[in-house]
Order: sequence, then C-alpha cells, then structure tokens
Amino acid sequence: KQKKIAIYGKGGIGKSTTVANIAASFSQNHKNVMVIGCDPKADTTRTLFGKRLPTILNTIKNTKNPRLGDIVFGGFGDVLCVESGGPEPGVGCAGRGVIVAMKLLEKLGAFEDDNLDVILYDVLGDVVCGGFAVPLKENYADEVFIVTSGEYMSLYAANNISKGIKKLKGNLGGIICNCKGIENEQIIVESFAKRIGTNVIGTIPRDELVQKSEIEAKTLIEKYPDSNQAKKYEKLAKNIFENNSYSIPNPMDDDEFEEFFINFSKI
Ligand code: ADP
Ligand code: SF4
Ligand code: MG
Repeated sequence: KQKKIAIYGKGGIGKSTTVANIAASFSQNHKNVMVIGCDPKADTTRTLFGKRLPTILNTIKNTKNPRLGDIVFGGFGDVLCVESGGPEPGVGCAGRGVIVAMKLLEKLGAFEDDNLDVILYDVLGDVVCGGFAVPLKENYADEVFIVTSGEYMSLYAANNISKGIKKLKGNLGGIICNCKGIENEQIIVESFAKRIGTNVIGTIPRDELVQKSEIEAKTLIEKYPDSNQAKKYEKLAKNIFENNSYSIPNPMDDDEFEEFFINFSKI
C-alpha cells in the first residue's frame, strides 16, 4: 500500500531539510518516492533537484494545458519532485494554491502510479488555517508527523498543529525532533510528545554538514552519505516507513502549554 505522509511544522524548523533527506534515503532503499512541497517558499525539493523547480501555480499561469512532465520532475535517486508554489506576496490565499495544485496533480493522474511507494507532503504549520490543512482535509495524506525543536515557538506551533490534526481526526504518527542544540532538548520534546499522546519517531542532531550540503543544493544523503548525520536521517526514514502506530492527538490548551513549558525551564 502507498504511504501518504504529511510533515508539518513551524517555518524554519527544518521540514524541507528533513523531507528531502528522508526522501533521498527512501530512494536509496529502492523505494519510489514523490515529494510535494506545499509551502509558498517552494524550496522543499531544491536539494533533491539541484535547483529550484518551476512551481505548479506559475506553470498554470504560463502554460495552457500543462502535462505531468511540466509539473513533476525527477531528482536525486529518481525522487519525483513537485512544488505547489504560492500566490504573489500580498495577494490571494496560499492554502487555496495548494488545493489548485493538488487538483491538477490528481487530474493528470500523478497519484495513479501503482509503483509509487511513498508520497511526502511538506506543509507549513505557522498558520493552521483551512488552507494549509488541505493535504489532510481532502485525504491526500493519511498520516502526519510534526517537526519541532525544543524551542518555545516551535513547540507552540506543534501543539497548534496537533489541534488541527485532532479536528480533522487525522492520524498522528509521531514527533520528529530536529535539534537546535538547546539544553535538555530531547527531554523537553519527548515530554511534549507524551503529553499530547504520541511518541518521538526520530531525533536529528544539529550538524553543520546540513548547511554545507544545502549550499551546493544537495541533500546530506547525497553529499555526505557516510556521515553520522546521514545515519540519523536513514534511521528516521526507516522508523517512519515501518511505523504503524497512530493516534488522534490530545493537544494542550494555551494555559496548559504555558505551564508545561515553564516547568521545563526549571530543570
Ligand atoms: P523549513 O522547511 O521548516 O522552513 P528548512 O528545512 O528550510 O526549514 O530549514 C531551515 C534552515 O535550518 C536551513 O538553512 C537548514 O539548512 C537548517 N537546518 C535544518 N535542519 C538542520 C540540522 N539538523 N542541522 C543544521 N541545520 C539545519
Ligand atoms: Fe488562505 Fe490560510 Fe492565508 Fe487564510 S490564512 S488566506 S486560508 S492561506
Ligand atoms: Mg521549507
């Protein structure tokens, strides 16, 4: 069965880096993967494709009847790369853009490929509006992972996202801890996961090799395949692929969240 996974998290937390590296890792394990960037930043697939992709929203503007080959591109390890793109800053609804992109992919049969093992959605989670809930709401994705560090704002966003997942009765597969290097980080993120009724599915340390790969528009899996950090992404990819425990999260209200976080500043 095809796995359809959505990765949510605060902007800048490391979603695209994580998605691109686990996609690369899947491909190295002979899985057929598609990555769909649903962030107006449209940079999820940059390190897989080696440069920025044309986005679906831009292509629709300039091409009358776009074909699959105009919006889906083969990247590292034959990972299929897609970017929904976004409206021009200041106009339109970014979430609406995701819907338009998804409908076009569907119409062109992008999801009908029986050989496709995994579809990964990279979705912004700062605004948990109806727009960005599309991959979940419209059942394009059927499991969710949230990327967070131990920082206040990224946990706050993770808690908010889990409210959205609960509302949509989505399956939360776990939390991905992408470390910022703060004190007690793993303990904080693990406690957070427990508190909302889920688990940490993998922990990625902070490592400058991530940036060194990014500068060359490569994933770390491609650029430093033998590094320790590559092993972390591989382990995470394996855990995600093999995971079959899901939950409807039990998020905190804002007061509970404050209390939760402040208690950790005391340890
Ligand atoms: P998002 O997609 O959530 O907005 P990105 O994946 O673009 O975030 O990451 C933001 C920045 O953080 C990037 O410059 C990336 O290189 C860096 N980064 C992400 N994860 C790590 C990590 N584990 N170690 C070092 N830098 C990281
Ligand atoms: Fe669209 Fe969400 Fe922005 Fe509202 S907040 S305009 S729904 S993307
Ligand atoms: Mg991103």
